[in-house]
Amino acid sequence: MPSTRIPARLSLAEMQARIGAGSSADVDDGLSPTLRELTQTLSFSPGDGRIWLNDQRMVLWRSSTYGAMRRELIASLGQDQARSLLTRVGYGAGARDAELVMRMWPGGDPANVFNAGPRMHKLEGIVRPETVRFEFDIGKGDFFADFLWHDSSEDDEHIAAFGMGTESACWMQVGYASGYATAFMGKPIIYREVACRSAGAEVCRVVGQPADQWDHPEQDLRYFTPQASTERVRRALAPVTPVTPVTPVAPAARRPASALSAQGSEGLIGISPGFSAARHLIERVAPTQASVLFTGPSGSGKELFAQTLHAISPRANAPFIAINCAAIPDTLIESELFGADRGAYTGALDARAGRFERAKGGTLFLDEIASLSLIAQGKLLRALQERVIERVGGQKLIAVDARIVAATNVDLRAEVAAGRFREDLFFRLNVFPIALPALKDRRDDIPLLMESFLRKYSLAHGREVSGFTPRAVQALLQYHFPGNVRELQNLVERGVIMVEPDEAIDVHHLFRGGESLDVDALGLGSGGRLVQTNALLAPAASSAAKGERAAARKSAMVYQTALVDARYNVAEAARQMGLTRAQMAYRARRLGLL
Ligand code: ZN
Repeated sequence: MPSTRIPARLSLAEMQARIGAGSSADVDDGLSPTLRELTQTLSFSPGDGRIWLNDQRMVLWRSSTYGAMRRELIASLGQDQARSLLTRVGYGAGARDAELVMRMWPGGDPANVFNAGPRMHKLEGIVRPETVRFEFDIGKGDFFADFLWHDSSEDDEHIAAFGMGTESACWMQVGYASGYATAFMGKPIIYREVACRSAGAEVCRVVGQPADQWDHPEQDLRYFTPQASTERVRRALAPVTPVTPVTPVAPAARRPASALSAQGSEGLIGISPGFSAARHLIERVAPTQASVLFTGPSGSGKELFAQTLHAISPRANAPFIAINCAAIPDTLIESELFGADRGAYTGALDARAGRFERAKGGTLFLDEIASLSLIAQGKLLRALQERVIERVGGQKLIAVDARIVAATNVDLRAEVAAGRFREDLFFRLNVFPIALPALKDRRDDIPLLMESFLRKYSLAHGREVSGFTPRAVQALLQYHFPGNVRELQNLVERGVIMVEPDEAIDVHHLFRGGESLDVDALGLGSGGRLVQTNALLAPAASSAAKGERAAARKSAMVYQTALVDARYNVAEAARQMGLTRAQMAYRARRLGLL
């Protein structure tokens, strides 16, 4: 997120007018992200056993379980190192939440977007923050925050385990606040807990400012730095919870940590266990000459895996030749595979090399292998056994030097049992089987894939797309994807084409091809109860969104008329509208009128 997009200098009065001081910080004042928008990012999918905060998987666990883990850490690592570890874990979570809100509300009012952090912390049930003073200016790098923290869950657990002491204990939360503010500001911000319930204070209080403005920031920074003896624990935790050390990284340069680790040089995208297992297997088998058989439903990425296998194998510099056995008629498959000599059949005017020959030194990928006729299967088997082929109508034996990679979306063993596939060929091909999961069985990869396809198609179609609406994210996370990754790819491409410039992709941009959205999700309803969110995804979304846009256009006209009447004197236009000058200026800017 470019920091230039949110130049903010807000006085305390303006801040309070916008986000409300104290407990009124929840008042939904209509500026994005509203509390409703934030709660909409939370979705329960009991059928899948998943909870999502927008596109991040969450877990619901007991505060006392966290307390037990914290106690164990202190007992085994000592207080200092346990504090360091928890601070860093909190830091990583805060940085991720900042990325989430900046990604979702890139054009929002900066103060309100920042305030989404404390509100999310509250939504997640960790602490109830209250603003005492808060000022920042991203352009100048100024930052000052003073919050009261009520009912910190971390303190509850600390006090339950150790009683009242002399030191503050909201370690993970201090890490969270520091990580959040650092990611938001693009420079290191340190929060210090100046009063804590665990040390006898009535309420916790934290102050945040740039690291270089604190006396002795090293006192705090030492908790952000992994120490030798915790390195082992850190490494062990790293795959699950990437722990980000305090390094000022401009938000613009940031990418979600999960995407970084998931997107290897091979271009395969995913972090889910099923996907990672398949990726591990191709890495194991790539350096060998063994035949590989990919199985998995249509659209699950078998060809991409085969290409990647080739690209990381010693044969990478030779050709990768693919043939879809289902797409070529029986009568032609032989000449396609083995080539034909001049005059081999009517119309064969020139001698032609087949795919086996063209794959010399490289990899031959036989997709949908089960659709080969029994005759073609016999010829393929012979080529594999004897390592030689003959062109159709030819006399000469040609040596085969291609690694064979095959793929199928049907169960080959069942085909063998039914007499439709040769058992000897099956055993030739099934040297190293790799099963690719259906997309609905690797839902954790959907957010990464969505982002990757969004980038790809925004570039390809020259569109500026701001992202996905929370509703669209929910719909994609719940959808059953009969067409797997290919279907997701098509949906995102369709969304990129359908969406208005600078608009976020919504449900009605995606699902227009008669897909059945039988999702089963729960979200937070009024009164804090979980309610079915299917209504949220109903086709009516389209007309609702049109209504919203029409309302936005209408309100833009009202502001524009006021501005024109006042000859663009903002203060005068504000008086006409019964608004403060700041309110008028903000709304007009937001509507693109100033
Ligand atoms: Zn505290």
